[in-house]
Amino acid sequence: MTKPFTRILFGGDYNPEQWPREVWDEDIRLFKMAGINSATINVFSWAKLQPDENTYDFSQLDEIVALLGRAGIDIVLATSTGAMPAWLAKKYPEVTRVDFEGRRHLYGGRHNHCPNSLVFQKYAGRLVEQLARRYGGNPHIVCWHISNEYNTGCYCENCAKAFRVWLKKKYGTLEAVNDAWNTSFWGHTFYDWDEIVPPSILSEGMDFGGLRKTNFAGMSIDYDRFLSDSLLENFKMERDIIRRYDPDTPVTTNLMGTYKGPDYFKWAKEMDIVSWDNYPAYNTPWSYTAMCHDLMRGLKGKPFMLMEQTPSQQNWQPYNSLKKPGQMRAQSLQTVAHGADTVQFFQLRRSKGGCEKFHGAVISHSGSSETRVFREVARLGKELAGLGGSLLGAESPAEAGVLFDWDNYWALEYASGPSADLTYCDQIHRYYRCFYNRHIPVDMVPVDGDLSRYKVIAAPVLYMVKEGVAEALARFVRQGGVLITGFMSGIVDESDNVHLGGYPGPLRELCGVWAEEIDALAPGQQNTLRFGDWTEAGCALLCDILHPEGAETVAQYGADFYAGTPAVTRHAFGKGTVYYVGTQPDEAGLAKILDMAVQDAGARPAIADETALEVTRRVKDGKEFLFILNFTGAEQPVPESLRGETDRLTGEKLPEIFPPFGAALVVREA
Ligand SMILES: [Zn+2]
Repeated sequence: MTKPFTRILFGGDYNPEQWPREVWDEDIRLFKMAGINSATINVFSWAKLQPDENTYDFSQLDEIVALLGRAGIDIVLATSTGAMPAWLAKKYPEVTRVDFEGRRHLYGGRHNHCPNSLVFQKYAGRLVEQLARRYGGNPHIVCWHISNEYNTGCYCENCAKAFRVWLKKKYGTLEAVNDAWNTSFWGHTFYDWDEIVPPSILSEGMDFGGLRKTNFAGMSIDYDRFLSDSLLENFKMERDIIRRYDPDTPVTTNLMGTYKGPDYFKWAKEMDIVSWDNYPAYNTPWSYTAMCHDLMRGLKGKPFMLMEQTPSQQNWQPYNSLKKPGQMRAQSLQTVAHGADTVQFFQLRRSKGGCEKFHGAVISHSGSSETRVFREVARLGKELAGLGGSLLGAESPAEAGVLFDWDNYWALEYASGPSADLTYCDQIHRYYRCFYNRHIPVDMVPVDGDLSRYKVIAAPVLYMVKEGVAEALARFVRQGGVLITGFMSGIVDESDNVHLGGYPGPLRELCGVWAEEIDALAPGQQNTLRFGDWTEAGCALLCDILHPEGAETVAQYGADFYAGTPAVTRHAFGKGTVYYVGTQPDEAGLAKILDMAVQDAGARPAIADETALEVTRRVKDGKEFLFILNFTGAEQPVPESLRGETDRLTGEKLPEIFPPFGAALVVREA
């Protein structure tokens, strides 16, 4: 058990090494004005700390740590290994990565190392050892932050060798590998381990207009697992060094929500606390951002850190809108509502050069505190400080779960067919959004999670059903749970080979349906769903042609040669129920189906009122914290049941009308 935080960390990335010394005192003055109580430092300082192979220089970092400590600012200390120094790449070119296109990179960028380079591991380990020995146990350091946004894919010769070792450990024999990857397809049987090479574009990889596909999904999925594990080994190496010198301070690395790279459920088991960087685009639905927060909370089933968000503008998206007045505050509170115990920005002072010079910061290029952004940050800092530690560690109880699984994510998107428009996170979000719109709290649950905690579980596009998963779902339903699944579920095993005997394979008996064929609808093509109550909804993308095997029909198709056949079914199984949704209904259609499922399950919302506001609940010590947020873009009346309550943030009565980005927090007995 590592030391918990004693206050809501409010601050962010701070890079004083990019600025002359005289700017630092001004920074501290402005931080105080803005209520900033923490700084994440040393994220990209390797070159500064180690000018050559044999020299280390911590004098400047000593000064920065001391300065922040004197000012009472908590430090999140990064290890700097997210970007290596130029001399390392020059002397040892094999530390740079080889990309999916098979190109060996020169020095440049960040996250630019081969995770299986022994040279990288040696020099990164040495640096971290120096840092841990020097700063481990420093009372101002409240968290260690390893590397940064791990995302390196590498297809080099080092990685090829390490992949073969990984495969030998997993499969034991080459026969087992051939069998798992079904290499008799196209005559790709391997007779020697050395014949196996990384599935880059030069090998089994394919590029379908920017989408990564593969000739052998079993191999490519294993390579993704291997890359995730390789990077995780880098993380664990640094963590273990830090632990030798500092066993009590929590260790994290900043994750990226629904990023497709590493298997974050596996990673979270090795992290003391999850942290992540939240960068929605101007048109990202608020429900999607909420889903990302719930996913990050779900990784450990515990509160998390918001390591980065921009105070206003981003720079790396095609269109970098300003956050409108009140938006940053509402967005920060949404993060806390869904389980964050920190609110941190990238970054505190805006860089003067480099590709992030247009990325927003608390202190703008003007250097002034008289800016809209600075004032909004200062207001939020004051409000969060007012909460003290009252909210820290608060739980987020949920009766609904949505399954999320990186193996499924990779596998579904590697599949060639039946539709190029089928993407994993979009399908997951469609189901999440229905719960969100009904204020029903959701946990994002791994496929090997404890399902018995939930009344209703949505498992859309559960394409890959690994060993034990079908049995766990059946147990959940038999004991009274309500399961919703549907098209492209139960199709393949963990090596991406089809479960023979008819879709949805191992889920067929549970769902009480057989999906004989899957039709793909092109963009603009539609079918209709006809429900038993004579209402209709649209549907698109994919249409399973279903034969009920014990399930009753909830809705039929309205058109095509399968008009009048079941599209959505409901199956009583044990004490529970399974809904099978054989197509992609429009938003209203899916909401109607989910309403039936929620009613069957008896899952309760955070608030019973009909309201377009987001209402999210955390619970601690017999108190409930209700966050009320307006992301609708229009004025919204206060929910009836909250009328007359006091806003804990402002100390005033809740307004009758919430303006766009209006936000409030009600604390009351649970
Ligand atoms: Zn490599």
